[in-house]
Amino acid sequence: RESVVIIGAGQGGLQAAISLRQNGFAGAITLIGDEPGLPYQRPPLSKAYLHDGNAEALRLRPDSFFTSKEVDYLPETRVEQIDRAAQEIVIAGASGKRRLGYDHLILATGTRNLRPPIAGVERSCDLRTLRDAEILRARLSQPQRIAVIGGGFIGLEFAAVARKLGHEVSVIEAAPRLMARAVSSWMSDHFAALHRDWGTALHLGEAAVAVQGDGVTLANGTTIPAEFVLLAAGVRPNTELAEAAGLEIENGVKVDACLLSSDPAISALGDCACFPDPRTGRPVRLESVQAATDHARLIAARIAKGESAAYSALPWFWSDQGDRKLQIAGYADPDATEEAVAEGIVARFDAQGLAAVETVNNARVHMKARRLLASGAPVALDDLGEIVAA
Ligand code: FAD
Repeated sequence: RESVVIIGAGQGGLQAAISLRQNGFAGAITLIGDEPGLPYQRPPLSKAYLHDGNAEALRLRPDSFFTSKEVDYLPETRVEQIDRAAQEIVIAGASGKRRLGYDHLILATGTRNLRPPIAGVERSCDLRTLRDAEILRARLSQPQRIAVIGGGFIGLEFAAVARKLGHEVSVIEAAPRLMARAVSSWMSDHFAALHRDWGTALHLGEAAVAVQGDGVTLANGTTIPAEFVLLAAGVRPNTELAEAAGLEIENGVKVDACLLSSDPAISALGDCACFPDPRTGRPVRLESVQAATDHARLIAARIAKGESAAYSALPWFWSDQGDRKLQIAGYADPDATEEAVAEGIVARFDAQGLAAVETVNNARVHMKARRLLASGAPVALDDLGEIVAA
């Protein structure tokens, strides 16, 4: 019986198991994850979960899924080695170490938080796993001064919740603007104004150099007083297993247009995979639910049905900050230009044309932009204005 082993039981790993069965794959599926409990989604960890503490709502599939679909799910089990010559992996769980064979292996190991060289950084908390979010939720129960290191999506989502709950919040960001890697400067400024309105102190263009008992010290010598510090300064892909197995690594596990690694028996997906952007051909690694699930669907169709289609899904992303939903259709490199289309709608262009459209609380235009970008039709700024207005 053919067997697929999936390493990492997060958003993409679980989706691969779901899609394999949906595509009629009748072989054995083993889904291995090092976290406890059933697979869950991460996005609510910096949003609804901090308010409601509802862990059940995070579960992606109930227990019955794994029995009815014959998916052998191994939680709290770590894959320690990939033996490519033998097509086996070495796993370590509660019952010790053992080897497990595979015909096809899917790497869905995600990312882990970056720990920048900041003195005393071990005093700060992370927000990546359900366990992290439980700790943060407990901390949010008493009023306190909170410093967030990192003005990206996760840091800002957390900051908005913490402010709403009445805490004093400061965000420290080394770049001169918020979410600088991912959004236009218009959107950065718009969200900076919103967070300031909500009462959060923003320290932009200021690097944190030390976390002390009484707060965070900046490069300019000032200390931001805080009883509690969240570190949200980016992530790094979990590529060590792949690297030790001799797979090609390039800002993630390097995969081709079919999401195959340099070993044809091994695919990689989601946050840990660096793949050719279908629009530009440039290598990208995206940290989004969309990429993890669409990658998983493509890999599953290839394994189950022998389809060898190139990955072509359109990227999209969202971030909920306070009562604002920022949505991005498409993907733009940081060096893409930006054009205001209308209030709260920004288009990003690169050498190939329209790359992405950013919107705020505007699901209608977001969906239109997704359809437009997916069609691949050339779009000029004027056309976009008309399409948006229609
Ligand atoms: P993950 O879901 O991270 O799963 C990887 C799993 O592999 C982990 O459980 C890890 O522990 C496990 N693993 C790693 N190595 C091993 C090993 N050797 N053995 C066994 N298991 C291993 N995306 C959006 O699109 N919108 C959002 O609003 C959004 N908000 C987010 C908020 C937070 C707080 C976080 C943390 C992420 C958010 N994301 C959001 C990103 C999104 O959750 C990720 O892009 C997505 O989970 C990636 O899926 P994945 O399967 O690649 O990795």
